[in-house]
Amino acid sequence: MNRSAEENGVVDEKDYSLDGKDRAEWDQAWASMPHRRLLAPPKIDVAGSLGSGCGELVSTTISEDPPQFSSKAWRPSENCPVCGVSTVGMQRLPASLHPTFAGGLSYGLGVWVHRSCFDGCPEAGEPSPIPW
Ligand SMILES: [Zn+2]
Repeated sequence: MNRSAEENGVVDEKDYSLDGKDRAEWDQAWASMPHRRLLAPPKIDVAGSLGSGCGELVSTTISEDPPQFSSKAWRPSENCPVCGVSTVGMQRLPASLHPTFAGGLSYGLGVWVHRSCFDGCPEAGEPSPIPW
């Protein structure tokens, strides 16, 4: 595993935007991460500022973030979306939660999840969504 640019004190000049030169590396890294399905609605707020217009939450999956990119995601909560308990000071993984609403809207939300909770979720059976 390569050490990240941040750890080496080097400015990250990669371009991961949709038409960026390093996009393939980004897509490949995210798509290869484990992707699992939550058996119960997430214990953290996922509708947030979306309001009630997006309809009911119909399903939620969670994917592990690639370690080399995990520092790029904003994680508004340190509570585990699976059990609702804080992950501070515990074995936890940087992950992305993917709620899907009845209206068809789906998006990714940066979270921390306990390793044991993540491992307890069944495989989603589909490729991990790629952010942005
Ligand atoms: Zn947990």
